[in-house]
Amino acid sequence: MSEGQTTLKGRVALITGSTSGIGLATAHVLAEQGCNLLLHGLMSDVEGAILAADFAEQYHIKTFFSNADLRDAKSIHDFMDAGVKALGSIDILVNNAGIQHTENVANFPIDKWNDIIAINLSSAFHTIQKVLPAMAEKRWGRIINIASVHGLVASVNKAAYCAAKHGIVGLTKVVAIECAEQGITVNAICPGWVDTPLINKQIEAIAENKGLSYDEAKYQLVTAKQPLPEMLDPRQIGEFVLFLCGSAARGITGASLAMDGAWTAQ
Ligand code: NAD
Repeated sequence: MSEGQTTLKGRVALITGSTSGIGLATAHVLAEQGCNLLLHGLMSDVEGAILAADFAEQYHIKTFFSNADLRDAKSIHDFMDAGVKALGSIDILVNNAGIQHTENVANFPIDKWNDIIAINLSSAFHTIQKVLPAMAEKRWGRIINIASVHGLVASVNKAAYCAAKHGIVGLTKVVAIECAEQGITVNAICPGWVDTPLINKQIEAIAENKGLSYDEAKYQLVTAKQPLPEMLDPRQIGEFVLFLCGSAARGITGASLAMDGAWTAQ
């Protein structure tokens, strides 16, 4: 596949955490373009097999599913080996999987800190390290890290999340520089609020503490820092990923691209 190829048809994308939210929506967007998919996330083998079969049937693409736990480097290497064996390559890597836990630093549980750093940051190091040699050999690759507005600014009670997301913004820059001559672009997308299950607990906590309905609490959460008074649709992130895979984005690399409803414009 050459740099001149304008379609994603036949390319292979690995999207971590593509069983839910932003990852799942991105999987649909890339599948619509004929991209083969290495689907991944925490669901049972049976559920994963059904998801992979549904995608293959709906979009006439090849699919592979893994529920490897991203906290374990060996599991990451093993599932990527199995995915490449099944689908032939990984041309597009979307490091998307992530978790959240909110608590002040003094009380932040160590196991939550370790999990968030492992899943939201270290897993991207492992996947990137694994895909780079083949991408460099093909002289084509797209790496897109789903960071967050919290990769650019901080909020209280999010020490591990902000540390991981600032970390992935730094990782993005380094890999982009190192791979700039190899046909590989590396970027981070930094969304504000996106309507996914990840933030349910934060909404429920506001509703309970302030005696609000779920929708009122959701509105309060969004508008506390984000001027755009609405959550993004996960599909909008997927469409940004698609843009970054296309030829118009050839010169965009090493960037941390805010998609944050003017949150960081203030
Ligand atoms: P989500 O909870 O809907 O999906 C998270 C995905 O990660 C799931 O597929 C889950 O199975 C997977 N995952 C979690 N722990 C895992 C583990 N140990 N091993 C393997 N997979 C694991 O969340 P989402 O909102 O779609 O989040 C996707 C990414 O977007 C995350 O990195 C998140 O930080 C980022 N993000 C989300 C928002 C938002 O408002 N929702 C805003 C900015 C950035």
